Amino acid sequence: MNCPFCRIVARQRPADIVYEDDHVVAFRDINPQAPVHILIVPRDHITGPLDFDDSNARIAGHLVSAAARVARQEGIAESGYRLVLNQGRNGGQSVFHVHLHVLGGRRMQWPPG
Ligand code: 5GP
Ligand code: ZN
Repeated sequence: MNCPFCRIVARQRPADIVYEDDHVVAFRDINPQAPVHILIVPRDHITGPLDFDDSNARIAGHLVSAAARVARQEGIAESGYRLVLNQGRNGGQSVFHVHLHVLGGRRMQWPPG
């Protein structure tokens, strides 16, 4: 298994896991870009956002609802947070197992870089 996030899901690679359930695993980003920076991944390997379709759209919903849960747990629900899904080269994707970034604890910029 050479996908780093599949390895984290399988507990074959260390990670600071903050939440997990039957569908997703959430862990702290190794290179945080905000005071709170958590990645939420499906247990199943899905390469990126482009691979969501009618057959697996429920998993995208699990990512977003888990983000709400994690945001409350991390104390950023009231102050707000940003959710990011990067796809491909221009999207800035560097790990090819879909992951929802949850960023909070500071004011985010717009437009994004
Ligand atoms: P992307 O650029 O693909 O949207 O985001 C990948 C994110 O995964 C980056 O923010 C990077 O810091 C993080 N990351 C990459 N490898 C690991 C790892 O092995 N463990 C953790 N916790 N985060 C990782
Ligand atoms: Zn994977």
